[in-house]
Amino acid sequence: MISIQNLSKVFRTEEVETAALNQIALQINEGDFISVMGPSGCGKSTLLNIIGLLDGITSGSYKLLGQEINGLKENEKAKLRKQQIGFIFQNFNLIDELSVYDNIELPLIYNNVGSAERKKRVEAIAERLSLSHRLKHYPQQLSGGQQQRVAVARALITNPKIILADEPTGNLDSRNGNEVMELLTDLHANGATIMMVTHSDYDASFSQRTIHMKDGVILSEKQNARNVDVLVDAKEN
Ligand code: ADP
Ligand code: MG
Repeated sequence: MISIQNLSKVFRTEEVETAALNQIALQINEGDFISVMGPSGCGKSTLLNIIGLLDGITSGSYKLLGQEINGLKENEKAKLRKQQIGFIFQNFNLIDELSVYDNIELPLIYNNVGSAERKKRVEAIAERLSLSHRLKHYPQQLSGGQQQRVAVARALITNPKIILADEPTGNLDSRNGNEVMELLTDLHANGATIMMVTHSDYDASFSQRTIHMKDGVILSEKQNARNVDVLVDAKEN
């Protein structure tokens, strides 16, 4: 689904050059659940933003769904992003001036979905994420956990192939954080491909494999025990 080879990213301003990613190689298959860990500034968000087509690469190759991204025009990238990718951010990134309903509906408007279909889909996803009674509220009237559920609903409303989550539990207490992790685990069980940045070993343990980054490179990758157990159980039964 995603194939990255020799990928480097340099941020240039007039005074400084920052090598944010250095010769990254990474394969992500359909149905994977990958977590990315590493110290602040090591390039985790940059990698996620590149995969999510929010940012371009400096050199190397990035193929998404078989297409080399470097060859695409901006409008083709925007279309891929709108249709295939759902983003979840640490600070939720909801629009304060819009109701919960309007926030969740927004990606459907961007994708030119008709109004009857939009209503049906917003109501269905709100039901699934226990937000049906909050649709007329505004983000500031909700708890952090509820706001992140709205952000998850907005990310899922277009049925994206890939969900990218950048420290999705970073601003949540442990109860709300666990709720978001259960949600992601549930989505993964239903076939979603997920890549999640986290500082929490516990959150990472929900994923199948964890990549450790440092200074713009991938240091190591490991399979997670929770999922190894699941594989063993499946064999025994
Ligand atoms: P992480 O998410 O792991 O904390 P980032 O990917 O945000 O790290 O940043 C990696 C490096 O790239 C850092 O040194 C950061 O300062 C730099 N960087 C990130 N975004 C930009 C940008 N838009 N312009 C210049 N430098 C940036
Ligand atoms: Mg970051």
